[in-house]
Amino acid sequence: MQELVGYCAQCGTEVYCRGGFLEGSMGKDGKLICIACGNQEDQEHDERQSGQSSHEKDRS
Ligand SMILES: [Zn+2]
Repeated sequence: MQELVGYCAQCGTEVYCRGGFLEGSMGKDGKLICIACGNQEDQEHDERQSGQSSHEKDRS
């Protein structure tokens, strides 16, 4: 039995709660992260990337 909790904020994968166990993790901002992305974050915990993407150049 599994329940769709939401979608991974990074890769868009569906994140399920299976048997009361969340197959992912919830970030500070309430962002849902799947297990795969969560593991990647763990491995790359050394390097902190600030201001990743979503930074559009403003030209007027
Ligand atoms: Zn993901």
